[in-house]
Amino acid sequence: MSRYQQFVTNNFHFKPDQPEYWKTYLINNILLILIPIFLFLIFLNVFIHKLYVIALIDAIAIAISVALLWYFHSTSHVERVSMFAVGMYSLLLIAYILISGPNDYSFAWILVFPPVSYFLLGRDKGRIITIVSFLIIFVSVTWIQFASDASMFSIISLVNLIFSATCITILISFSELSRAKAYDFIRLKNEELLRLSHTDALTGISNRLKLDEVMLKELARIKRGTPNFSVIIGDLDLFKRFNDNFGHLAGDQILVEIASAIVPVCRLADTVGRWGGEEFLIICPETPLEGAMVLAEKIRKAVESLQLHRYGSITISLGVTTSRTQDDINTIIHRADKALYLAKSDGRNQVRSVTSFTQQLSLDDAD
Ligand code: GH3
Ligand code: MG
Ligand code: MG
Repeated sequence: MSRYQQFVTNNFHFKPDQPEYWKTYLINNILLILIPIFLFLIFLNVFIHKLYVIALIDAIAIAISVALLWYFHSTSHVERVSMFAVGMYSLLLIAYILISGPNDYSFAWILVFPPVSYFLLGRDKGRIITIVSFLIIFVSVTWIQFASDASMFSIISLVNLIFSATCITILISFSELSRAKAYDFIRLKNEELLRLSHTDALTGISNRLKLDEVMLKELARIKRGTPNFSVIIGDLDLFKRFNDNFGHLAGDQILVEIASAIVPVCRLADTVGRWGGEEFLIICPETPLEGAMVLAEKIRKAVESLQLHRYGSITISLGVTTSRTQDDINTIIHRADKALYLAKSDGRNQVRSVTSFTQQLSLDDAD
C-alpha cells in the first residue's frame, strides 16, 4: 500500500470490508481535493474578479478542511467528521450563493451536494440534510429575488437547477439503496458461511475448527488472568459393535440424538462440539475441575438414559481436565485423552479426570 493510500485510510484504522474504510477514503479525498480547488478560487477572486469577500470564504474553507483533516487523523471519528464536512460544505454553499450575487453558475455547486451528503452520512441522514439545505437555499433565493428591486437570478436557470438537483437526488437515493441492500445481502451470506464453517454437518453442533478457535480464545483469556476453563472429552462405548450390529446409517442417527441429549445439559456459555467420529468435546469457560466433573456425570447419565428405539441404549465414557497457564491445545487435549483412557480402562460408562502434569507424565510412562 502506497504512502498516499496509508494517509487517506488513516493508517489502516479500518479494514476494507468495513463501510468506514471507504468513507474514510472519501472524507480524506474530498478534504484534500478541496484545498487546491479553493486555492485556485482565491487566486481567481483576488487577482481577476476582485471579489475579496468570496476569497475570504475560500480561505475559511481551506482552514476548515485542514482542521478537519487534522482532527480526523487524530480521532478517526468517521460519523462526527462526516457531519462537520457536510455542515461546512452546506454553510459555504449557502454563503457563496448569497454573496456571489447575480451569477447563475454559483448554483452549479448545489449539484455536488446530494452525492456528498448521501455518501458521507448514509441514506437517511443524507436525505434529510439534502432536503433541508435545498429548502434553505430555495427560500433564501426567493426572498432575495422578491426583496430586491432588480431580478437577481434567471428564473429559467433556477427551474433547470431545481429539476437537475431533484434528478440527481433521486438517482443517488436509488444507488445508495441498492448499495445498502447488496451490502446487507453479502453480510448475511458471510454470516451464514461463517456459521456453516463452524458447524458439524451431521449433528449441527460445533465442529473441530470452532472447538479449536474457542480453546485458543480461552487459553488467551486465562493467560490474561481469567479463571481456568475445563475440557470434557466423551467417547461412545463400543460404538464399532453398534455399527456392526445396526449399520452405519443407524450409527449416524444415534450420533445426532446423542448430540441433542448433551446440548441441553450444558450451559449456554459452554461450547459443545464433535471432536471426531463418535467423540464429543465440551469446553466450559471459567469452570473449575469439580464443576466440570459434575457436568460430565450429568452428560453420562443423560446418554445412558436415552431410549434409542429398537437399538436399546448406549453409554459414554468421559475424560475431564482443567486448564493450566502453560497449556496449549495439544497439552490440554492430551490430558483429557488420558483421563478418557482411564475411564475406558476402568470399565467404560464412567467419568475420570487428569489434572497435573505429573499425573500425565506417569500415564505416559505407563503407555
Ligand atoms: P470404545 O468403547 O473403546 O471406544 O470402543 P469403540 O468401538 O467405540 O471404539 P472407538 O472409540 O475406536 O470407535 C470407533 C468407531 O466409531 C469406528 C466406527 O465404527 C465408529 N464411528 C466413528 N465415526 C463414525 C461416524 O461418523 N458415524 C458412524 N456411524 N460411526 C462412526
Ligand atoms: Mg473413538
Ligand atoms: Mg468409542
